[in-house]
Amino acid sequence: FKRIVLASRPQGQVAPDNFRLEEVPVPSLKDGELLVRNHYLSLDPYMRMRMEDVKSYAAPQAIGDTMVGGTVGEVVDSKNPKFAVGDKVQGMLGWAEMGVSDGALLRKLDTTHIPLSAYLGAVGMPGMTAWYGLTQIMQPKEGETIVVSAASGAVGSAVGQLAKQRGCRAVGIAGGKEKCDYVVNELGFDACIDYKAGNLAADLAQATPNGIDAVFENVGGEGFDACLARMNPFGRIALCGLIAGYDGQPMPLNNVRYLLTMRLTLRGFIVSEHMDLWPQGLKELGGLVATGKLKYRETVAGGLAAAPEAFMGMLKGRNFGKQIVKLI
Ligand code: NDP
Repeated sequence: FKRIVLASRPQGQVAPDNFRLEEVPVPSLKDGELLVRNHYLSLDPYMRMRMEDVKSYAAPQAIGDTMVGGTVGEVVDSKNPKFAVGDKVQGMLGWAEMGVSDGALLRKLDTTHIPLSAYLGAVGMPGMTAWYGLTQIMQPKEGETIVVSAASGAVGSAVGQLAKQRGCRAVGIAGGKEKCDYVVNELGFDACIDYKAGNLAADLAQATPNGIDAVFENVGGEGFDACLARMNPFGRIALCGLIAGYDGQPMPLNNVRYLLTMRLTLRGFIVSEHMDLWPQGLKELGGLVATGKLKYRETVAGGLAAAPEAFMGMLKGRNFGKQIVKLI
C-alpha cells in the first residue's frame, strides 16, 4: 500500500519535496492487532507545525516517518477480539492507505445517521475544537456578540452555528465573497467580513455595533488585531490557531493594550488535552449533524498522491470547508 512520509523540513512555505510517496508491504498481524483500510484522511493545519523542529505542545514529526493524520476507515483483518472485519473506525493512522493498530486509540463509528467522513470534521476533532473553545472559554450568553475567523472552515463554521444556537450574534471573518456568502446564507451567521476586500476594521465595526464579547481566533494577524480594538470589558478570547503565521510570516499586533484596558481573558488551548469532555461535546455535535442542524462543507481531494497539493492549498485558503482526501 502507499504512504507519504516527511522527506525534509520546510524552509518557509511547505513545498512538494518536503513529502515522499512510498510503496510498502502490508505487514502480517500479531495477536491483538488489526488492519484498517483508510477511506478518508483528514488534512489539518496542525500538521504544518509538526513538520518543523521547534518548541511546541507536541514533539516534531520525525523525518522518514509517515505523516501524522486522522483517518476513518474499515477493519479488513483482525486479531483483536474487540474489533471485527467490517467495523468502521476512526484513528490516527496517518497519510497512508492502510494502517495497523493495536486498537488502543481506535474508536468504533456508527454510520447509520452520520456519514463516515463527518467523523473527521463536524463530529470529530475540528467540531470538538469549536465546541470546547466556545463552551469552556468563550462561555457566551444569549444576546452577546461573538466573532470567529476562518469562519467557513471546519472549526469556524461550527463555532458560529453553535453560538447562534445559544442566542448570540455570530460574526465571521473569511477570505472572499463566495465564502462569506456561504457563511451568512447557508450557515446562518448574522454577518461575515471578507478580509480580502481591504476594509477589515471598518467592516468589523459595522458588523459589531455593540462591540465584541467573545472571539474564537483561528488566524492571527490583521483580523485578530481589529477584533482586540472592538472588545467589550471582560471579553473572552479563545486562542485556537494562528494559521496566518504557520509558514513563518510575521504577525504584528498593535492593539495589545485592549487586553489590559478592557480587562480581557485570553486562553490558548489544545483540544486533545481535554479528552474528558469529548463524549459530552461529540454527543451534542453528533445529534446536531444527524438532524441537519449543524451544517458542514467538505473539499475532497482524490487519492493519497493528491494529499501534499491539497495540504499546501489549505494553508493558502484554497479549501472551502473541511479538507479531506478520499483514499478509495
Ligand atoms: P480550515 O478548514 O479553517 O482551513 C484553513 C483556513 O484558514 C483556510 O481555508 C483559510 O480560510 C484560512 N487561512 C489560511 N491562511 C490564512 C491567512 N494567511 N489569513 C487568513 N486566513 C487564512 O482549518 P481548520 O478549521 O481545521 O482549522 C482552523 C484553525 O484552528 C487553524 O488555525 C488550526 O490550527 C486551528 N486548530 C486548533 C486546534 C486546537 O486544539 N487548538 C484544533 C484544530 C484546529 P480563508 O480563505 O477564509 O482565509
